[in-house]
Order: sequence, then structure tokens, then C-alpha cells
Amino acid sequence: MSTMETILVLTHVDDSGAALTKASLEAVTAGVELSQRMGATLAIGILGRDANAAASAVAATGARLLAVEGEAFAQARYASDAAGCEALCRAAQASIVLAPGSARLVRVAAGVAHRLGGFIDTHITALAGAGSIEATRWFYRQRVEAVISRDARPWFLLLDAGTHAAYAGESAAAQVEVVAVALPPLRTVVEGFRAPTLGGQTIRPDARLLFVAGAGWTKKQPDGQTHVAEAGEKILAFLRLSGASLGSSKSLADQKAEGQGEDQPVLPFLTHLNQIGQTGSTPRHPKGLSTCCHGEEPHAVGWRFIAERRAISLDANCGWTRGKADVVYVADAFAVMARVNELLEVRNA
Ligand SMILES: Cc1cc2nc3c(=O)[nH]c(=O)nc-3n(C[C@H](O)[C@H](O)[C@H](O)COP(=O)(O)OP(=O)(O)OC[C@H]3O[C@@H](n4cnc5c(N)ncnc54)[C@H](O)[C@@H]3O)c2cc1C
Repeated sequence: MSTMETILVLTHVDDSGAALTKASLEAVTAGVELSQRMGATLAIGILGRDANAAASAVAATGARLLAVEGEAFAQARYASDAAGCEALCRAAQASIVLAPGSARLVRVAAGVAHRLGGFIDTHITALAGAGSIEATRWFYRQRVEAVISRDARPWFLLLDAGTHAAYAGESAAAQVEVVAVALPPLRTVVEGFRAPTLGGQTIRPDARLLFVAGAGWTKKQPDGQTHVAEAGEKILAFLRLSGASLGSSKSLADQKAEGQGEDQPVLPFLTHLNQIGQTGSTPRHPKGLSTCCHGEEPHAVGWRFIAERRAISLDANCGWTRGKADVVYVADAFAVMARVNELLEVRNA
């Protein structure tokens, strides 16, 4: 079976409409590496209003380039995206389909695999093997790593973001085969995006830094008072100046505002989507900075894929200092972040 594989990488354009998303380019890297190792045929399928501009960025792969184009693919919508992906898979006659685990493709990939009578595995972090494909994923909150092989085809593999380098070949003139799609009736009209919280989107999977806020930000400080409004301003200013992604401890994300059962001021821009840890998320970022967080195991387990870890805590005996962070600053995070923001203001000016 190994010499007969045809690999299709499904990709989609970003908000600009003219470039592929970073996660799509990571999937392209995975496809190029796998096809070279297996001696397999490689195709790249693109979803977007105008796929030609986006295609030039991956033309240097030498892969067959297929696209479904037009207004229907300008934005994510189940009916059109599923039909488009199905058409791309059929046109490529793919036996292996790699796709980024983006919100847009996660939503449709299982349905598309079903339409093609195929199988799907999600949260793939690595692809190994030359004779057969060995796909790796984690189970049980990143504690157990499994290696999966399948004989069933087509086999869909959704890749976790941040597990491969983004493809960065020279831009070149692209020969794109536009694939015709018979669209079903489209009942959903995409009117646009609405930001869920004030302060805009705080979760940024592509950020170089994960900034974690802990419950200490809302606790009484050495002057005997809480300073929650000031904490919120400092955190949001740092996110704006640094472009970092915002994570939270469970204790902070759990806090409820006055009138919702608990009588305390809270940080209004945090939701449970920000929560890092055993019952939260396990994001991938090159660096992480924890502030006002104790670094207990159920929280720190969510830092598994943060390469370099630093923490600021008043407690010299916190969990971070006991072997979970590379560097710990035993200091007042209010003072440290005020100074860091000042320095970033100067740098960004
Ligand atoms: C089944 C289970 C699942 C769980 N899952 C998760 C999870 O997914 N994620 C998670 O986060 N937790 C989880 N927890 C909870 C976890 O055990 C901790 O209770 C939680 O992480 C503590 O949050 P914290 O460190 O922000 O708060 P605290 O423990 O209250 O720590 C606050 C820290 O802030 C410091 N501080 C205060 N003021 C300052 C200042 N000015 N400058 C610097 N430092 C300051 C204090 O010294 C203290 O160390 C789970 C627990 C259980 C039992």
C-alpha cells in the first residue's frame, strides 16, 4: 500500500483572503515531508474566494495544486466547506488527507471523511514511518502518547497547530486546477464576526508568548486592598503591547462577579476558554510567563508544550520554584508588569 499513496493537504485562506493560514502552511510542511519519505504523490487543495494568490506561496513544493473558489468559500460555513473539501478529495483521489486542526476544518473534516467512506484521527502531533504511516497523538490530558497506523483509506489526519514549521518556500507562479463544486442549497448566511468579550480576542494560538494570569491579581495586596481594575489594565496593556496570548489559572477563571453568587470584583475579559491545565487547555508556545499563579500540578500540566517557562510570584516557595519553571522572579507582579509595559511602550514607539 505504501508506494500507492496519494497525499492531499487541505488548506484554507486567512482573514485577508489572499494568504494561507499559518496552520495550513504547517500542514503543507507535514505533507511535503511525508510525501518525500514515502515516495508518494502530493497534492494541495485550497479553499478560498481567490485561491490563486494563496497558491503562489506553496507553488515551490512542486505539488499538484487544486482549488475550490468563489464567494461561497470566502468564509467558513459547514455546507459549502464540506462540499468543497469533498470535491477536492475526489479530484485528488487522495488516500491520505492531511488538514490543519483549525476551527474551520475541524468542523467539517469528520463529515467529509464519512462521505468518502474514510476514517479520521484528530490532534495528530507527528507523522513518522516510511513504509507505513505512524501518526502520533496524546491521550488522557497529554499524559499518554499513542502511535496509530491504519490500513483503511482514505485516512484523514487533523494536525495540531504548532507541531510543524510553517512552509516558507519562495513564492512562484502557480498552476491551479479549479475544481467544480455542486453546492447544496446554502441556508446559512455569514454576516461577519462578533468579538465575544470586551478587549477583543485574547487567545492567540500563534503568539510567541503565553501570558498566564493567576488568582493573585484579584487578591488583597500588601496594602490590605484589592486592585482588580488596575490588574485588568496592566494585563490588557501587556497583551496589546506584546501580542501575547492570555491564559488563566482555574481559580481566576472560576471567579464570579458580584450578583452571580460571589461578592468580588473580577477580570471581565477572562473566560474558561483561557484556562490552562488539567481541566483546561494545553497550548503550544515557545515561551510562557506566569504571573500571580501558584503553579500547582493541575495547572502546570497544561504547560507541557511551553518550551521556556518563567514565573513571577510573591511566594518563594510556590510550585514554580519547585522545579516547574526555568526562571522564577520572586517579586510583586504589579510592579514588574508596570515596568515591563513601560519598556514595551518605549520599544514600540
Ligand atoms: C481535579 C482538579 C482539576 C484542576 N484543573 C485545573 C486546571 O485545569 N487549571 C488550573 O489552573 N487549576 C486547576 N485546578 C486547581 C489548581 O489545583 C489550583 O487550585 C489553581 O491552579 C490555583 O490557582 P492560582 O495559582 O491562580 O491561585 P492561588 O493558589 O490562590 O495562588 C495565587 C498566587 O498569587 C501569588 N500572588 C498574589 N499577589 C501577587 C503579586 N502581587 N505578585 C506576584 N504574585 C502574587 C500568591 O503568592 C499565590 O502564589 C484543578 C484542581 C483539581 C482538584
